[in-house]
Amino acid sequence: MYSPINFNAGPATLPVQVLDIIHKDLFNWNNTGVSILTIGHRTSQFAELGERLEASVRRLLHVPDDFAVLFLPGGAQIQFAMIPMNLTRGFQSANYIETGYWSAMAIKEAQKYTQVRLAASSKDQQFTIIPPEETWELRQDAAFLHFTDNETIGGVEFPEVPQVGDMVLVSDMSSNIFSKPIDFNRLGCIYACAQKNFGIAGMSLVIVRRDLLDRALPETPAVFNYAMQDKNHSLLATPTTFAWYVASLICDWVEQEGGVAEMEKRSLVKAKLLYTCIDQSNFYHNSISALYRSRMNVPFLLPNQRLEEEFFLSAKKAGLLYLEGHRSVGGARASIYNAISLKDVERLTEFLNSFAKAR
Ligand SMILES: *Cc1c(COP(=O)(O)O)cnc(C)c1O
Repeated sequence: MYSPINFNAGPATLPVQVLDIIHKDLFNWNNTGVSILTIGHRTSQFAELGERLEASVRRLLHVPDDFAVLFLPGGAQIQFAMIPMNLTRGFQSANYIETGYWSAMAIKEAQKYTQVRLAASSKDQQFTIIPPEETWELRQDAAFLHFTDNETIGGVEFPEVPQVGDMVLVSDMSSNIFSKPIDFNRLGCIYACAQKNFGIAGMSLVIVRRDLLDRALPETPAVFNYAMQDKNHSLLATPTTFAWYVASLICDWVEQEGGVAEMEKRSLVKAKLLYTCIDQSNFYHNSISALYRSRMNVPFLLPNQRLEEEFFLSAKKAGLLYLEGHRSVGGARASIYNAISLKDVERLTEFLNSFAKAR
């Protein structure tokens, strides 16, 4: 019998090698005599872990020296507020691109702190495309342009970083961080919650150009102030110690597997296999325009809703778990992050084919 595979969008599958290490470190981490769950965040051993984590992120993503790397408490929706709080002092507005559920949520939150300029939206196309750049209406005096690099629910991904001249670009990379190299020459700030491709829930990674660190609104809480956290190596308050630890194991694993470029290569092969299976099935359907299909999250519909229940039940019996689509859109969705192997996706496509054939 195969071991089960978790296709959930987040919290998402961790590499089994990482789970093994966690298992060992649970009672005595790093010969400290105490559990990784209870190690003090002011100990020299934890300080070392923090330094190693930052160094790994910088190495894996080729982060330039003029960018700060922060590990902050809470998920990406907290960053929806923190981004405008930290980056809009002295500006009247911020540009946003709407390409699906998460960018819409980011816009809603940002409206509390700044005037949001909706520069483009693909809502009229049911979020099946990225609006062409030549149609974007940017306010040139806005603080930044925010976009969601990968829409985890809709399954739309930017094929490349937008070309917007000197405008500061802010990117939500929650669901595709560490799945491709990042061109920091063209970006001002990226952020990602950890529970998709960078470990477990509880923390977010923020990488921000240091010259943007003097733009925080005065009411920004200290713990959420990028500049203050940068000065304190993200240790202003007790950090999410276990999430930092798991993130450092994920970095080690990505490095051992060949790095971020290798993750990108694998993601293209896995995604192609799954989309081809869906497209050729005459049974399942994915409506995202081919250019913008996500490499990480693949939503698909069955011919009718009646079949869905049966589909999820059979999938579960085959050890293919949590293929249900997001509650806002229904249908099915397979999240195929770094920790999902090509073999795992092959098992999924074999199941998809046999389920379709039997109907
Ligand atoms: C998951 C996700 C979020 C929300 O993250 P939380 O940690 O639940 O707040 C935001 N944006 C994107 C792109 C996501 O995938």
